[in-house]
Amino acid sequence: MSEDAGLGMEVDPIMCRAHGLCAELLPELILLDEWGYPQLASQEVPTSLQAEAQAAATACPTLALRLSAGKEANPRS
Ligand code: SF4
Repeated sequence: MSEDAGLGMEVDPIMCRAHGLCAELLPELILLDEWGYPQLASQEVPTSLQAEAQAAATACPTLALRLSAGKEANPRS
C-alpha cells in the first residue's frame, strides 16, 4: 500500500532511560513526555529523515531506539 516503505522505528520502554538524546537528534518524529520518555509521532521514518533517525538510534546510550527495514519490526532480528 505504501509507495515508500522507509524505516520502521520503535522504542523499547524497558531499556529506555529517558535520556532524551533521541528527541534532540530527531525532533521531527520524537517528542518527550513529562517524564522525559520519548513519544513517537510516527513509527515510520520518511526517507528524508532516515539519516537523522540512524544518528538518533546510534546515539541512544541503551540501544532502546531501534530501526527496522519496512513498517513491521522483525521479532527475530
Ligand atoms: S536516547 Fe534512548 S534512552 Fe534516551 S530517551 Fe531516547 S530512546 Fe530513551
